[in-house]
Amino acid sequence: MKELKILYLYPDILELYGDFGNIQVLKYRLEKRGFSCIIDSYSIGDDEPNFNDYDIIFSGGGADNEQSILSKDLIQYKDKIKTAVKNGVFFLLICGSYQLFGKYYKDVDGNIIPGLEIFPYYTEAINDRKKRCIGNIVISANINGKEQKIIGFENHGGQTYDVFSPFGTVLYGNGNKFGDNKEGFFLDNVIATYLHGPLLSKNPELADYIISYCLNRKYGENVTLEKLDDSFENLCREQLLKHFTH
Ligand code: GLN
Repeated sequence: MKELKILYLYPDILELYGDFGNIQVLKYRLEKRGFSCIIDSYSIGDDEPNFNDYDIIFSGGGADNEQSILSKDLIQYKDKIKTAVKNGVFFLLICGSYQLFGKYYKDVDGNIIPGLEIFPYYTEAINDRKKRCIGNIVISANINGKEQKIIGFENHGGQTYDVFSPFGTVLYGNGNKFGDNKEGFFLDNVIATYLHGPLLSKNPELADYIISYCLNRKYGENVTLEKLDDSFENLCREQLLKHFTH
C-alpha cells in the first residue's frame, strides 16, 4: 500500500487556531483513497528525526514566546533541514514557523529570535503591541498552473520583508505586512504562509496538490487522485467567499 509519512515539528509548542487540522486533513484525504498515512512528531528533548525520511514536514504557528523557546533547538538542525528542502521533502509552515525559516524575527521589544536562514526573508514586529494583522484573509495563488482562491485566518504582529517568491496575491486581508498585496512564500516544495484556518480544511484542492506532489515524488509516477465528495467544503467556501469578496 502506498503511504506518506508526515513529521509534525513541536506539536506541543506550535499549534494555533487548529493548525494540527492540516495534518488531519491530509491523513483523511489519503486514507479515503486507500493510501496510508504515518504521523510522527518531534519536540525538544526527543531523538533527532531523520528529516529526509519524511514526505511532508509540518510546523505550525506560535506566539513570540513559543518561538523563542524553540528557536535554539530548531537551529541545531539547520543543515539537515536545508538538505531536506533541497531533496524535495514538502514543507508546510504556518505563521510562526514561516517566520523561523527566514533570517530572523524581531519582536516588539527589539529582541531578535534567530531563524534557520533557509530563505532570505525576515520579519519584524510592528512597534505597537496592539497593532496586529488579524482577521479573515483570501488570496489568489497559482497552484499547479491554476489560479485558486485560498481562504484562511491571519493573526500576526510580524511584518515579513524581502519575500521574493510569495504564495499569493491578497484579495482580502493583509498578508505579509499591513496592507500588503502579497502573502506568504511559495517555492517548489515549500509553502510558508500566515494562513491558519486550518488552511487545508478550507482549501481541499491545496491539500490534494500537496498529496499529489508527494505521491509523485515518492513513487515516481503520475498518480491520479480519486475525486472526493467535497460538496460540504465547497459550500462552506462559497459562503466565505461571498462574505469576503464579491
Ligand atoms: N509571533 C508571531 C507574530 O505575532 C507569530 C504569530 C503566529 O504564529 N500566529 O507575528
